[in-house]
Amino acid sequence: MDEMTYCQSCGMPLTKGTHGTEHDGSQNSEYCLYCYKHGAFVDDCTMEDMIAISLQHMKESGILEEQGKTEEETLEFMNSFFPDLKRWKKSS
Ligand SMILES: [Zn+2]
Repeated sequence: MDEMTYCQSCGMPLTKGTHGTEHDGSQNSEYCLYCYKHGAFVDDCTMEDMIAISLQHMKESGILEEQGKTEEETLEFMNSFFPDLKRWKKSS
């Protein structure tokens, strides 16, 4: 059974063909290809940077309008959602 999974870095849904890759070309199951390539993170950024980048992307690609959400609502959601993602989770 396929369970919906999300990139543990940027929060986008991981579907067939959007998974990141390992050094040997195999598929990584936790991160998307925009965040993770050839066994390493593409961008060395902070969680705040990632939220800003994602929000910008959602705005430009019309996802905000599609979902009928304002920028503020989405930002609020991201600020509560991102800290739970594996990449940003505080280990302490
Ligand atoms: Zn990602």
